[in-house]
Amino acid sequence: MNPFAQHPVIEDYNLIKRYFREYETSHSKNRMQDFRKFARMIQDAGYQVAFDFVGSVNFGQADTNSDVDFVLYLACEKSYRGECDETHCRTRHQIENLLIRTLIREYVVRPYEIQVVDCLNLNLLDAELERGDAMSPALFRFAFYRSICRCVNARVLKPYLNRLMANPPLVEGLRSELAAVFDGLNRWSPHSISFSKYKSRLEDLGVRIPDSMLEKIRSHLAFGKDHMGEGI
Ligand SMILES: [Zn+2]
Repeated sequence: MNPFAQHPVIEDYNLIKRYFREYETSHSKNRMQDFRKFARMIQDAGYQVAFDFVGSVNFGQADTNSDVDFVLYLACEKSYRGECDETHCRTRHQIENLLIRTLIREYVVRPYEIQVVDCLNLNLLDAELERGDAMSPALFRFAFYRSICRCVNARVLKPYLNRLMANPPLVEGLRSELAAVFDGLNRWSPHSISFSKYKSRLEDLGVRIPDSMLEKIRSHLAFGKDHMGEGI
């Protein structure tokens, strides 16, 4: 289930991704395995958690030195229903620093860095799905990440994704937001993929996609074109 499946840029992105995944590195496989284990342990510690990987793990191209970049899904404490606050959220601090970083040190032979590129509060997703507003930045990011990323513990996200997909007008509304964002971008032409324009459009829409994420998408699209030509 991919809310933005039909959009040409998303299609291209996923084509490139599938291509690279056929040549998945052992480091990528190991990192996925690590995070499946971490998800179970974090869950045993009493937290709801899921990961959407971006960058090298998403593309199956992690090497020894690759960081692991991901979107972190969690339920902020006290049923807080706003955007997760990086500096004050104790749940996020527990999961990110006390659990993941500790688990990496303890269980991984060659430890690696992690970077949380975005954090989505499941309580907020719940509230926004209830509201059903296609202008919701949280819903847009959720639909976007679920369309391009690689998930660990998808089971946690499934009820939210089901609710989104069960509301076709909402999905349609989010898709037209995406169309506005990508408007003017030509398929397969990295020179025309102006991500600063993309970014300012997103900001106009009140949507914040992290810079690091935009940079990765841009570089992967450019890289894919250089290495694969137009013919795929
Ligand atoms: Zn939080």
